[in-house]
Amino acid sequence: TKWVLTFGGGSAEGRADMRDLLGGKGANLAEMASIGLPVPPGFTITTEVCTHFFANGRSHPSDLAAQVDAGLRHIEAITGRRFGDAENPLLVSVRSGSRASMPGMMDTILNLGLNDRTVEALARNADDRRFAYDSYRRFIQMYSDVVLGVEHHHFEDLLEGLKERKGVVEDTELDADDLASLVGSYKAKVAEERGEPFPEDPRAQLWGAIDAVFSSWMNSRAITYRKLNRIPEDWGTAVNVQAMVFGNMGETSATGVAFTRDPSTGEKRLYGEFLINAQGEDVVAGIRTPQPITEAARAEGKVKAPSLEARMPEVFAEFVETARRLEAHYRDMQDLEFTVERGALWMLQARNGKRTAKAALKIAVDLVNEGVLSKEEAVARIDPASLDQLLHPTIDPKAERKIVATGLPASPGAAQGEIVFSSEAAEEAAGRLDEDKKRRSVILVRAETSPEDISGMHAAAGILTTRGGMTSHAAVVARGMGKPCVSGAGSLRIDEKAGVLTVAGRTFKAGDVITIDGSTGQVLDGAVAMIEPELSGDFGTLIGWADEIRRMKVRANAETPDDARAALAFGAEGIGLSRTEHMFFDEARIVAVREMILADDEAGRRKALAKLLPFQKADFAELFEIMKGLPVTIRLLDPPLHEFLPHTDQDIAEVAQAMGADPEKLRGRAEELAEFNPMLGFRGCRLAIAYPEIAEMQARAIFEAAAEAGKATGEPVTCEVMVPLVVGRADFDFVKARIDAMAKAVSEETGQKLAYQVGTMIELPRAALRAGEIAETAEFFSFGTNDLTQTGLGISRDDAAPFLSHYVDKKLLAYDPFVTIDREGVGELVALGVERGRAVRPKIKLGICGEHGGDPASIEFCEEVGLDYVSCSPFRVPIARLAAAQATL
Ligand code: PEP
Ligand code: MG
Repeated sequence: TKWVLTFGGGSAEGRADMRDLLGGKGANLAEMASIGLPVPPGFTITTEVCTHFFANGRSHPSDLAAQVDAGLRHIEAITGRRFGDAENPLLVSVRSGSRASMPGMMDTILNLGLNDRTVEALARNADDRRFAYDSYRRFIQMYSDVVLGVEHHHFEDLLEGLKERKGVVEDTELDADDLASLVGSYKAKVAEERGEPFPEDPRAQLWGAIDAVFSSWMNSRAITYRKLNRIPEDWGTAVNVQAMVFGNMGETSATGVAFTRDPSTGEKRLYGEFLINAQGEDVVAGIRTPQPITEAARAEGKVKAPSLEARMPEVFAEFVETARRLEAHYRDMQDLEFTVERGALWMLQARNGKRTAKAALKIAVDLVNEGVLSKEEAVARIDPASLDQLLHPTIDPKAERKIVATGLPASPGAAQGEIVFSSEAAEEAAGRLDEDKKRRSVILVRAETSPEDISGMHAAAGILTTRGGMTSHAAVVARGMGKPCVSGAGSLRIDEKAGVLTVAGRTFKAGDVITIDGSTGQVLDGAVAMIEPELSGDFGTLIGWADEIRRMKVRANAETPDDARAALAFGAEGIGLSRTEHMFFDEARIVAVREMILADDEAGRRKALAKLLPFQKADFAELFEIMKGLPVTIRLLDPPLHEFLPHTDQDIAEVAQAMGADPEKLRGRAEELAEFNPMLGFRGCRLAIAYPEIAEMQARAIFEAAAEAGKATGEPVTCEVMVPLVVGRADFDFVKARIDAMAKAVSEETGQKLAYQVGTMIELPRAALRAGEIAETAEFFSFGTNDLTQTGLGISRDDAAPFLSHYVDKKLLAYDPFVTIDREGVGELVALGVERGRAVRPKIKLGICGEHGGDPASIEFCEEVGLDYVSCSPFRVPIARLAAAQATL
């Protein structure tokens, strides 16, 4: 087996696409060498050796040693130096490098190969004895720490002691003899700590370093990092051994890092920093202030130190050309590390650079305009989830953050405002105006939220809860509304009665201003500076390309006029789900809703429903008007009735008084309607089956609104009436008959022709199985994957948080099935529903309106099973447009 692959001298045995075997660093070094860039020669020991190492009691394959020797000979041949040679010694660096970048896994070892003999040769060849001994003492310290486990502080103490004895402050004030004596004491210390001398033999040093790199794969830092980033343990790391080049050989040497474009804005200009007479780590360590690479950057920056362009014009010109070639070669923005040794440029690393979402868009769009990428490639490059960063106001990265507490990043974006502890207070405060005549901004702070808080959540700028996870009511509803939310900030204590919030000894009162960052879960003191989102420019261009590419349509889940307008602004092509129950919670209507629920008979119910009709009609008329002929799917009432009733004694008394009803009767009805499993209870079309007059009222409101809107514009409105929670054709038909009858009646009354369809949610396993017969009469299906997940897995949507995380942590489920569709189970039900529905009605319109409709991985699944559209909350519409395009590529 080939365990070792060499690079350098204008060619390489590896390539960029061999990351799995060579790790990211090794693969890129090989690629750079093979396109003729100046890369110090070296070799990469493959990840397979790492795998072998751990599978065989930390031993090597028997033929590895011979291959490593051959690798050394390759470096020696190119550099003309020899490992361990007393005249012209070769020094190497040893670094880890895995498939995915894992910052902080293992420190690099530099200057390996130095010993008491080679250090003298280095001093002669460099004509700089101080430099040689400085390199030597750094090597001993680094090697002892990483390989021998002798901690840094031992060496720091010796260094400080020497400086004190010499009466100097800076390391640079020590001369070559001082450093040589320091080397002596370092080695004595190692011998004392280890009970054996520091290894003088370069080969022993090399094998010690190689094994330390492999072993570092299993150190606790690396294990934690892999867990957090879902990197599989069996990938292993490669080891890169490479000839040293020195950036610290005097004033004509330097080292630096650069990006080929600005990683925070994406602007096309070389962006980076370097240090004269320094070694790699010095630039990142931040001890000396680095200098800018270009004159332009120096001119506008605060750092007045001369640029690389001014100091080393020839090296600069070569670097610019190299950066250009690398970017053209990889067709992406590059993150580069380089060293200049006595005027000669060496490239140490090139990889695709990390960037902000904003920069990612600009770079992708620019690369298309420059003819480097196709539109498809540009669209494929953007992570849809990252767009979230751009759709909401965010905290200014330059602003100072005074962190009060940290919870879960439940819904992205930042919001700030006065603390309120109840929904009523939120509505009240948000209704008032501040001195600038702007609506007051409030943050609703609660232990957790419930459906009764909907209007308070609407009124608030953001929501903060002390309990509950990523799928808690607050999190789901906030994401739906596009409001920032931090959930489960457990260190906060709310005392609602006293109207205070305490955390770590601090107290906040109602009215105090806080900022929440729903993208990080942070709760911050005061009003922190924010940045507004920008939807035009590169964002608009790239999403426009996505629209040309995608097949599926994207609709929004929306019921309020604000949501509908937001949906349109984000590019929704219709409304895929309008949850009519959300229209009933406002103060004026809930009275009539409660009257309806309390009615003793049908006549009483009809009387209450008659009061609701004008409200509903106005709601729908406004939606139709806003959506201007785009399809609007309106779902009949869904939630359990008791959600509309008061529960506490005080609330019951208040409501009874307001309604002029008997409190005992109210309490009795609330108790009657209380359910053990509301989500499996009296909801969905079950309401319409028990009380058809409810469905009839809603249907009348829809059709009267449609008739009026149709008359006003001369164009028929496309409305789709949707029946929730059916189990088969029979219950669907029962409700559909009422809807059709009402359409006929309204059409006759108004003389208007009505264009409408009646379809159903498929959100129960039985409905998916019976999709064939349902499709005989249903004109469309919308898969309600929230309920289909709940019923398919038998996991309550509202109670899942405490145990679901264990499933994910213990890898029993790869992800939260309420976030990303469970392809094997729930997905199978969807696929079956699609197949059986289409078999009966080939043109049936198929969509999805569960939370999954806005999740990129789930959208990919929707494309695979051939849905016609996805529907998601307005703020996810751009993400869905992009994800739907990527799903076709
Ligand atoms: C669903 O169940 O997926 C759905 C969209 O309906 P709701 O979330 O309103 O139950
Ligand atoms: Mg549902």
